[in-house]
Amino acid sequence: MNSSISRRRFIAIQAATVAVGSSLLCASTARAQSGGAHLDEASEQATALGYHHDSSKVDGKKYPKHNASQHCKGCSFWQGKPEDPWAGCAMFGRKQIANAGWCQVWAKVPG
Ligand code: SF4
Repeated sequence: MNSSISRRRFIAIQAATVAVGSSLLCASTARAQSGGAHLDEASEQATALGYHHDSSKVDGKKYPKHNASQHCKGCSFWQGKPEDPWAGCAMFGRKQIANAGWCQVWAKVPG
């Protein structure tokens, strides 16, 4: 066999592999930016932390440290921009949480 053909074939396979890898990375990044599934308030994960999409609906008796001015967008764990309606949160993995949401882990952004 001709070694230059093998080399060309090897390079072509590598180029194709890089192209496929780049496509998957782009798709993954786009999905992360556009947002994944919204967190279900009724899920075990959400109820364990007292999460609500709307901070004003949090039971103050059950969560006495809650203040209606506390929202996910002002929490240290909010991974979006302040104006994003939904974003990630370190507490809920790939699920998206609401800008006006709240859970008992709320921690004010320093500053
Ligand atoms: S940790 Fe912060 S950003 Fe995440 S759900 Fe709780 S209050 Fe919202």
